[in-house]
Amino acid sequence: MAKKRYTLKTACPQCGCSGAQVLSAEEMQARYGSVPNIELECGECMQKYQEAMKTACPDWDKDCRLSERWPRSTLKLKAQG
Ligand SMILES: [Zn+2]
Repeated sequence: MAKKRYTLKTACPQCGCSGAQVLSAEEMQARYGSVPNIELECGECMQKYQEAMKTACPDWDKDCRLSERWPRSTLKLKAQG
């Protein structure tokens, strides 16, 4: 039985480099868990940054019902730049 895959799209706020990862639910859970904001490290400039799961992977967000579980006050993080 094929497992559902989640595509995680990210973009570094510093260098603009974007990336995508395709992970299974288990991998998503292990790496990022069910949190509204995830921490990432850019492979190009090593900048650490946060991304809202809703933006990075709407699919995962939907399946975990993150938006319902977390009020959207937690999604404010694109203030800098
Ligand atoms: Zn970067």
